[in-house]
Amino acid sequence: MKSKPIEELRAGFRGEIIEPGDQSYDSARRVYNAMIDKRPRWIARCSDVADIIDAVRFAAGKDVPVSVRGGGHNGAGLGMCDDGLAIDLSLLKDRRVDPKARTVRVGGGCVWGEVDHAAHAFGMATPSGFISTTGVGGLTLGGGIGYLTRKHGLTIDNLIEADVVLADGRLVTASREENPDLFWALRGGGGNFGIVTSFLFRLHAVDTVFGGPTLWPIEQSPEVLKAYQQFITEAPEDVGGFFAFLVVPPAPAFPTELHGRKMCGVVWCYTGPMEKAESALRPMRQIGKPAFEHVGPVPFPALQSTFDPLYPPGLQWYWKSDFYNVLGDDAIGLLAEHATRIPTGLSTVHLYPVNGAVHRVPKDETAFTFRNSLLSGVIVGVDPDPASRAKITDWTRTSWEALHPFSAGGAYVNFLMDEGQERIRSTYGENYDRLAAIKKKYDPANFFRVNQNIHPAA
Ligand SMILES: Cc1cc2nc3c(=O)[nH]c(=O)nc-3n(C[C@H](O)[C@H](O)[C@H](O)COP(=O)(O)OP(=O)(O)OC[C@H]3O[C@@H](n4cnc5c(N)ncnc54)[C@H](O)[C@@H]3O)c2cc1C
Repeated sequence: MKSKPIEELRAGFRGEIIEPGDQSYDSARRVYNAMIDKRPRWIARCSDVADIIDAVRFAAGKDVPVSVRGGGHNGAGLGMCDDGLAIDLSLLKDRRVDPKARTVRVGGGCVWGEVDHAAHAFGMATPSGFISTTGVGGLTLGGGIGYLTRKHGLTIDNLIEADVVLADGRLVTASREENPDLFWALRGGGGNFGIVTSFLFRLHAVDTVFGGPTLWPIEQSPEVLKAYQQFITEAPEDVGGFFAFLVVPPAPAFPTELHGRKMCGVVWCYTGPMEKAESALRPMRQIGKPAFEHVGPVPFPALQSTFDPLYPPGLQWYWKSDFYNVLGDDAIGLLAEHATRIPTGLSTVHLYPVNGAVHRVPKDETAFTFRNSLLSGVIVGVDPDPASRAKITDWTRTSWEALHPFSAGGAYVNFLMDEGQERIRSTYGENYDRLAAIKKKYDPANFFRVNQNIHPAA
């Protein structure tokens, strides 16, 4: 494909081309993680699919990096690039719910709060994550682990089709029927295969859920975590809820005597009949002596956005992750010990359950490799102050290194930082070669390489 000059791109573009020196340049290149400071040569903020195709054609043959910004939430900042073209999808905000078909069609630049809002009007939702500000694009293409995962599967398990602009500028649809190899790869393979301009998701009846946190003193964490693993393995699939080590924030929802205290807890999301919620969660709430509880009926979008104010954009983030099968006493002991050294008020450790409906999807159905594990763990160093960078990174790395030998061998791709090819290979395990072959078919020159990159097969 012949490369377009910038004047030609500008002439037909309906969105905005932003360059260094433009007033909006710094805000346009900013991403969620304030540790990231990338400076693209051009930011093409596309208004529609035609703009995206033009932007791809513009970059073709230029041999510059091309990044794709969905929600801009990626920890490693993969939505932006240095000295290349950042294709920004943030104007692609369409949401169309079809209540009869129980589906929602979503523009490639939406964030999950926008989708939750649209679907909640019909008493429905599709599985996403645990915070509403994350982009639909990146979260979905990596897999999607959230409150509804045990009941309704990963986000990719609810993807019906996607429209994709390929590296050669063609727009294709990927589904079980059309381009099934591409559809397989998109479900876990990240942004390697093209730019998804719209996603079609299946919706479920999820309206008011029974949710909120139960917290225990951190000294009880070995007993609580051991019980949690057992409970979440056997609980009905209506029970969702992740385990956390955390520092209680100084928020009015918590008693002042708990503010700043390190604790462990579970944040619940029960989607079954309200009258059965108490009894469904009771076995876990009877473990040890909970110090605080704030659990009750809550609209699903409100639960999804509970953590939004605590974690606004612009904080320093560093995280490391792994999947785990069952953690034994040694691993639990180590984790509990490292959690007592959580370095800042916003740093945390989360263990997300990935069983239930996820385990019922055949392993070779999608590119998401670790669907048979029990937990997706992430050790998260966060602080507003750039001076804390070394402190949060060191604690995260040290804790991860201690736990890694007890892992299932790979991480969730969406929780990787810039960790090199070996980690990407271990994330995809036995699926890597199949992904590399599909990459060769759809993007042989590795045009889309600002991502957790799968190299085209030789
Ligand atoms: C605070 C926070 C909470 C999180 N919580 C969860 C969670 O609960 N569950 C979970 O599963 N993950 C979670 N994540 C991880 C999240 O899934 C990833 O960071 C994901 O990459 C974010 O997607 P994005 O579109 O916002 O990212 P961006 O930074 O915009 O992009 C990330 C990558 O995705 C690609 N991409 C994005 N959109 C498209 C598109 N439309 N077409 C093609 N490629 C695209 C980009 O090329 C890039 O490689 C969380 C992240 C943060 C920072």
